[in-house]
Amino acid sequence: MEELLERLLEECRPYTAQGKLADYIPELAKGDISDLGIYVVRSDGKHYHAGSYKKNFTIQSVVKPILLLLTLMDNGVDYVRSKIGVEATGKPFDAINVTDQRLLSDHLNPMVNMGAIAMCTLVKGADYQERFHRLLELTRLLAGNPEIEVDEAVYLSEKRTGHKNRALAFLLKSSGMIEDDVEQVLDCYFRACSIKVSCKDLANIGYVLANRGKMPQTDQRIFPSQYAHYVNAILMTCGMYDGSGDFAVKVGVPAKSGVGGGIMAIVPTRMGIGIFSPALDSKGNSLAGIQVLERLSHKMYLSIF
Ligand code: GLU
Repeated sequence: MEELLERLLEECRPYTAQGKLADYIPELAKGDISDLGIYVVRSDGKHYHAGSYKKNFTIQSVVKPILLLLTLMDNGVDYVRSKIGVEATGKPFDAINVTDQRLLSDHLNPMVNMGAIAMCTLVKGADYQERFHRLLELTRLLAGNPEIEVDEAVYLSEKRTGHKNRALAFLLKSSGMIEDDVEQVLDCYFRACSIKVSCKDLANIGYVLANRGKMPQTDQRIFPSQYAHYVNAILMTCGMYDGSGDFAVKVGVPAKSGVGGGIMAIVPTRMGIGIFSPALDSKGNSLAGIQVLERLSHKMYLSIF
């Protein structure tokens, strides 16, 4: 397996030169475009890795499924569904998924920024610092890594420049979908996106979703299997931005990408996969990362279809 991963990485490495680092968050433009790494956690307890799998990067939108899990754990499916829709948007991560109609909860999606910003308000906690801390703790628990922290430079960079997200949050506020102070809600969202992870962390988190809520080895249940079904279904239809349909056809497993170059892929009952390669395609997905997953899916019959 390790040999296969090494070979796939070598085959796909040329794609890193065809992508672009995200630069709308200035700090992300400082990344190394040639990075490419993969980590696989399998249901038989074996771990495999290749390339820059140890390197840390910011989780960005890959935090959205974890945020969704926490809102489900705090409120249950019915309440979350009543506040945040689940329809595929076919639009980029920062889309305003509404035209001239009134903004409704069904216009939101947990994997698109507006929905994710609204989800921060559904997390339980005395204030937004506590809410964020609970999200960080859940991330650490699922990853089996108590050392996960925030990348302060990326957090400050996005807080300083994230005006489109501010616009989205104010739109939510003007529609009565956020009651709290916009800047505090956004602070929680920006911190969430700036959590620093590695491929291994993403593979471990993905594995718990693949294993329907149970930790590897101990089989300790962290969340009900129903929540894994909910999150994985949304990832299947919307996890790869407006490239989700193409990804479903080519790879065929639930996954979430982030503009930091991470992809977390979930092969239900079989494996969790973490990928890092910050050279992005025009939709904001890791270009070489998708190539690696496509080849791995063909070799190992990973598609759920
Ligand atoms: N922090 C990024 C933003 O909100 C996340 C985008 C992404 O990874 O899709 O702009």
